[in-house]
Amino acid sequence: MVTTRLLLFLFLVYSANFIAQDKYPDPSICELINEDYDSLLVDDKTIDYELNKILDIIGFYNQDFFIQACTNLENAITFKHDGNNYILYGEIFLKSITNNSNLWAKTFLLAHEIGHHIHGHAIDISSINDYKLKKISLDEMRNNELEADNFAGYILGKLGASLEETSELISHLTTYEDDLHSTHPNKSKRLQAIKNGFYNSNKNIENNQPDSAYDYFLRAKDRYMSNDYSGAIIDFNYAIKLNPDLFEAYYNRAILRKKVNDFEGAINDYDIFISENINDVDAYLDRALCKSEMNDYDGCINDLKYAIEIDSNYSRSYFIMGVILRQIDLIDEAKRYFDISISIEPEYEAALLERAKIYSFKNLNSLSINDYDLLININPNNNYIYSLRAKCKYEIDDFLGCIMDMEKYLVEFNKDFEAYNLIGICKFNLKDYSAAMDYYDTAISLNSNFESAYRNRGIIKEKLKDFEGACRDWKKASDLGCMDCEDWFYKYCN
Ligand SMILES: [Zn+2]
Repeated sequence: MVTTRLLLFLFLVYSANFIAQDKYPDPSICELINEDYDSLLVDDKTIDYELNKILDIIGFYNQDFFIQACTNLENAITFKHDGNNYILYGEIFLKSITNNSNLWAKTFLLAHEIGHHIHGHAIDISSINDYKLKKISLDEMRNNELEADNFAGYILGKLGASLEETSELISHLTTYEDDLHSTHPNKSKRLQAIKNGFYNSNKNIENNQPDSAYDYFLRAKDRYMSNDYSGAIIDFNYAIKLNPDLFEAYYNRAILRKKVNDFEGAINDYDIFISENINDVDAYLDRALCKSEMNDYDGCINDLKYAIEIDSNYSRSYFIMGVILRQIDLIDEAKRYFDISISIEPEYEAALLERAKIYSFKNLNSLSINDYDLLININPNNNYIYSLRAKCKYEIDDFLGCIMDMEKYLVEFNKDFEAYNLIGICKFNLKDYSAAMDYYDTAISLNSNFESAYRNRGIIKEKLKDFEGACRDWKKASDLGCMDCEDWFYKYCN
């Protein structure tokens, strides 16, 4: 009674959620604090750089700390679990902070949280009993906050921030109100703690300051190479202040500003650079990308057209045009530009990948498989591509091919429960029910709330006449939101 059409539908859901596993520690840690984790893809790699900068100063290693974004968290918190130090933060919370404050805000926030760990404030939540036993008074909590602020002030002083920059975030976030009934101290106490820490940091560094624009420029490049983006921007600021005609500094600062999502600032810098370098194709391309980030698509496409006019043989210009057109849903136009960039540079991997995605979007799966073949030829170790090709093979009913590709992908991404589910679906289509069951089992063992796998496993159990098991799985799937499963449960299970 349940047909494979249904499985096809499931697969559509599956492909929409298909993401590569991130290297970040363990999103399920969000569950420890009763947090959902819907969108796990942390693309904010800069947080790692900031962490390393801070730990460098106090001689700790990155491995000692786990940082994880949680979807709904409205602040940042620290705790210990199984002996590890955790810092969790809300993705939106962090974005609002970095959007509304200076470049040091993120560093300050992290330093403050690390300060809690360094000072031993973080509670170990491995044991619920401990958690209940450890009663902290409001007074002690406020004191902890001041210690963490003091630490953060010290760190930012060491890193070269001004006192004003160091204090800005807390100035924004706090008020002067009486704090007697609050877990956090008021503004004046916190600013004082920051100031104390700041002045404790050795201020001799000023004696080692570079003395010419070019020296600043060189140090900025060093800082950039060691991923210290905020430090590098500050050095470029000095370089430009000392020599406003150092146009390379504008260009480089623009790249950095773009990296830290200050697109408006980046566009300003590109404007100045381009006014002196009117034929610099890459500057136009970069400015175009910033404009697209600010939804100025007309300005963006104008820049791209101009770049192509300057050099009609530069594959990257066509590629970026394709990406932008794809973004605004001009799919066929986008494909045309990817075609051109590939005709100029046949092994242009990013362009091949984008074109393949367009083909599969248009259900031209054999064509996208061709492009994936090329990509795998160019770089046989890119296991992620196998998963994309597997998906296309599934669409054209090449279940064996799909399984083989997915198995290759799993060599590297062996925690991807969606991949096991897809193999299960293929095995089902090949009528190898017990193997399908094994794959669904694995998918569920990796994610005990994986609706689709319960639904699919229920279908197999029903086929194998394990009606009780089928009903159990459908009940679970229906609890997780599967409407069909709810119907089946009421129809076939009492
Ligand atoms: Zn705190």
